[in-house]
Amino acid sequence: MVEPVESDPSLLVVVLDVNPTAWTRSPLALNKALQQIVIFINAYLALNPENKLVVIGASKRNCQLLYPSDSTVDAAHDIQVYEQFRPVDVKVLSGVQAMVSQVTVENINSLDEQQSLMSRALSMALCHIHRVSESQTGKIWSRILVLSAGEDAPREYISLMNSIFAAQKMSVLMDICKACGQKDSVFLQQAADITGGNYLKVNATADESLLQTLMFTCLADHYTRSIINAPGSALIDFRATCFCHRRVIDIGYVCSVCLSIFCKMAPICSTCHTKFSFKVVRPDRAQGNSLATPTADMSSLELK
Ligand SMILES: [Zn+2]
Ligand SMILES: [Zn+2]
Repeated sequence: MVEPVESDPSLLVVVLDVNPTAWTRSPLALNKALQQIVIFINAYLALNPENKLVVIGASKRNCQLLYPSDSTVDAAHDIQVYEQFRPVDVKVLSGVQAMVSQVTVENINSLDEQQSLMSRALSMALCHIHRVSESQTGKIWSRILVLSAGEDAPREYISLMNSIFAAQKMSVLMDICKACGQKDSVFLQQAADITGGNYLKVNATADESLLQTLMFTCLADHYTRSIINAPGSALIDFRATCFCHRRVIDIGYVCSVCLSIFCKMAPICSTCHTKFSFKVVRPDRAQGNSLATPTADMSSLELK
């Protein structure tokens, strides 16, 4: 296994939740959060001239690549600003503005309106990481930073978990920054834990707390993380959603063939169509062996 070295460049994919409905409920305004994100991105680019950056915006209806993009930026050069900062700042800010203007805030209390297309954004992020890694001659270490403001979308559970396991296989760290909301994100907590990243909840009442959190925890590359002590999450919610109703459940039944999770016992698995046998297996005292074991059974699983 290749170990990271100090001089290795990084690829950072920032996934920004720009769903205005979710941000409306937050004590931290989207424009203030964006200012702090841009400062963090500039700090990341200044760390190593070979560092690469991708920024993806996720809203409730669509996902968009904000940087790099084909749009051209006015080449007015400010000698006081590092040359690489300007196109990034302009493209990210104008891209988010365009995405927000496409969405109308209808009902801020509707749970459906507060959910962004996170799994789609993460799939886009992994595709970009794969493309950059393939085109790169030397080793590049990739990580994803998700700034989430909305609620978990249980209907996205399967695709989200697929993205998380793909990221783990590709050695991609996922840092999660939950910018608002009283509740923790169950799925994103698992994403950070599985991939070895950090799950951070920002104290949105303090103005600069987002920037401080990002600078102290998410700026560190793979090499630095091997020598620093990152803040760990004490308690992680490992619950899953059932495949039948897309509800987060505490106790469920698992298909022993395809590992699909259900909230209720069913005679046939809706995913792989296996028929379950409900015969009770008792030891045959006379013979000293068991009755015929069913070919497939549905095991009860307690999710903690
Ligand atoms: Zn169900
Ligand atoms: Zn099955």
